Parts: sequence; C-alpha cells; structure tokens
Amino acid sequence: MRSHETISVVDPEIWPHMQAEVRRQQETLELIASENHVSHAVLEALGTVFTNKYAEGYPGKRYYGGCANMDAVEDLARNRAKQLFKCDHVNVQPHSGSQANQAVYLSVLQPGDTILSLDLAHGGHLSHGMKINMTGLLYSVVHYGVDRKTERFDFDEIARLAREHKPRLIITGASAYPRLIDFTRFSEIAAEVGAIHMADIAHIAGMVAVGLHPSPVPTAGFVTTTTHKTLRGPRGGMTMCKEEFAKKLDSRVFPGLQGGPLMHCIAAKAVAFAEALKPEFRAYQEQILRNAKALAEALMSKGFRIVSGGTDNHLMLVDLRPAYPNVTGAAAEKWLESAGIITNKNMIPFDERKPVETSGLRLGTPALTTRGLKEDHMRTIASLIDRVLKGEGEAKAVEAVRGEVLAMCREYPL
Ligand SMILES: *Cc1c(COP(=O)(O)O)cnc(C)c1O
Repeated sequence: MRSHETISVVDPEIWPHMQAEVRRQQETLELIASENHVSHAVLEALGTVFTNKYAEGYPGKRYYGGCANMDAVEDLARNRAKQLFKCDHVNVQPHSGSQANQAVYLSVLQPGDTILSLDLAHGGHLSHGMKINMTGLLYSVVHYGVDRKTERFDFDEIARLAREHKPRLIITGASAYPRLIDFTRFSEIAAEVGAIHMADIAHIAGMVAVGLHPSPVPTAGFVTTTTHKTLRGPRGGMTMCKEEFAKKLDSRVFPGLQGGPLMHCIAAKAVAFAEALKPEFRAYQEQILRNAKALAEALMSKGFRIVSGGTDNHLMLVDLRPAYPNVTGAAAEKWLESAGIITNKNMIPFDERKPVETSGLRLGTPALTTRGLKEDHMRTIASLIDRVLKGEGEAKAVEAVRGEVLAMCREYPL
C-alpha cells in the first residue's frame, strides 16, 4: 500500500458510505438543532497530520518532544476562544461537550455532592444528572423544571429548591429550551446558597459569542460548550472558567479525565474560532434567529402548538398533539426523514408519552441557515412538514414533498 493512495483505493468498503453521506447531507434539509455544516477550512484542519501527534500536557509543558507546532496551534485556539467569549481562562482539550462538563465536576465535586440541574424531560442534557449517566451514578441530583403554564423557568421555585437542597453546583443551559436564559439570575441564586454556577452553552454558543444571547461568562464560575453546534466548528468541547479555578480545571482535564488531546480537532477549533470572530458570523447568527422565528410562526399559523408560544433562539419544540393527536414524535420523525426532512423526536415538558415515542419534535435552523436558506424558505418548509404529517406518511404525499426538498437542496448546495 502506498501512503498517498486515497480512501477509495485503500478501503473500498468504507468509501461508498462516505460518498453516500456526502450525498445525504447535500440532498436533505437538516433541522436537527444540534447539527451544522462546517466550512471547508474546518474540514481540512480535521484531515491534517496533527492527528499523528501526542501532545499530553499544555503549551510549554508537554510530556512529549516535537510539540512546537502543537503549542502554537493550541495557543491560537485558546487566545481566539478568550477573545470570542471574553473569559479569564479556557481549556480547549475536552473531546466532547460531555467531557467539558465532566472536567468541571471533577474540579469542584466529591462523589455524593448535590447538583441542581434542569430535568432531561424539560430540555436538560444527559450529562447534567441523568440516572444512568456518570453524573446520576456519582452525585446526588435534584432537578428543576419549567413552569407548567408558561413553559419557562420559574425562578422563585428554582430559588426555593436551591435553599432547600443546598447544592454544591447549579447547572444551567439546555438541549431543548427555546427561550433566553437569565444566567445572571441563576448566578445570584447560586451565590445566595453558596453554590458554584456552571453554565453549559453547548447549543447557544454561537449566539453568545456575538452577543445575541446574554453571556454567562461574567457571572458563572464555569462555562462549558460544544464547538460543533451553533458555533459551527469541529465535533468537540471546551471549558471556560474564572481565574481562581484555572489551575484545578487544567489538571482535571489532563491527567484527571483525558490522555492526549486530539490536536487535529484543536487545530479545527482554532480555525472555527477565527471564522466566528469575523463580522459574517454575526450576520449568520442573526439569520439563524430570523429563520427560527419565521419557521415557528409559519408552523403556528398551520395550527401547530409551539412550546412556550415561540422561540428566542435557534430552536423550537413542536407539540404535535393539538394539530395531530394521533401522531407521535417518533412517527413524525420517520415520515419526515423519508421526505428528506431530518428532525428529532423530543419530549415536551410534562409529556405523557414515553421518551421513545414523545409528543414533540425539536426543530432548529443553524444548518439550514448555513445552506443559505431564508425566511421564505422557512415558510415553505413549514408547509412541507404539515403536508407529510397530514398524509400520515402516505407514500404519494411523501414523494411529492421529497421532490420539492430535493429541488430546494439543489438550488442551495453545500
Ligand atoms: C450537546 C450537548 C452536550 C454534549 O455534547 P456531546 O459533545 O454530545 O457530549 C452537553 N450539554 C448540552 C446542553 C448539549 O446540548
């Protein structure tokens, strides 16, 4: 085997799946709120020889020789992240969003300590205390939810829970919460009960970076994020913190939690941060928000109920029950996928259906906006979604919608 031979020659089993995935991404509308399409530059960085290198440690303090280029790249990633989020300190090594959070838990919690976090069934994340996640296994977890009527946070109730349970850590941030989060209020509650506030901005990082969502950085002890959602970088995580926690955090990421950093991912993070520092990125985030509002309004005009009555960010939760009482989120996800519209079923707050069925769909606009789609397209997509659900997955309706989806994708290629 010669080293310059391409995948198609070296591995003819993998290659067709790669081509098929490129085609799938080109020819379907991606409405999964946590996904995006990275730039060519980010993809290029991921495919570099940085993947060959062990760089355990941090710039200037590595456990391996030959790390000068690694140091330069990791310093660029850290400095750009600091510029983007205006944080005291950042660690760009966490392999994922979950590990960015684990690094915080290892930094400030002992097994058995109490965490107060958002219920998974109300939009929280599994790494915030789900029973069978390491957080649920190691720590004592108390959840807050959203108010049944407003479907928004009730800070009197959250403050009451904090006073009652005296958590060591209060976790904010969500995977399926469509409204602005008042991080300052959460920090105040944490301060009152002597807790540390960790804000997980995995979903909304892009908006926080450009100031379209209030930033938790000034008031929270720790801020964690993924780099691959609205931030539009490579799959990965990062943890920011106040200066007082910096040393502890770094030692908990490595060697506490991880071995060698994924230097090709860190190079790609640096590239994505540079992209996010450009004015075009702010325009992109503004368009994500306009698109989300347009999609939510168009769906409501078709009779769909949107949880909390709308959205302030890039995502919305559609309650299918009023418009289609017999259609589960699972069925809707499947039918829409066959029409080329990719979504995910999602619990709505106080859902009576099981997590494998659900009464809701989560829809987001970051990936569609990357393709160049605008408000008018969102109105068209709302109609397409309604036609598929009205037909209950019936083949003729699905096929007709699939044709229109393909035409839209071809007009706006990636
Ligand atoms: C996506 C997400 C994560 C974790 O991301 P992974 O990279 O999949 O581990 C963490 N927190 C929140 C709120 C998320 O939405």
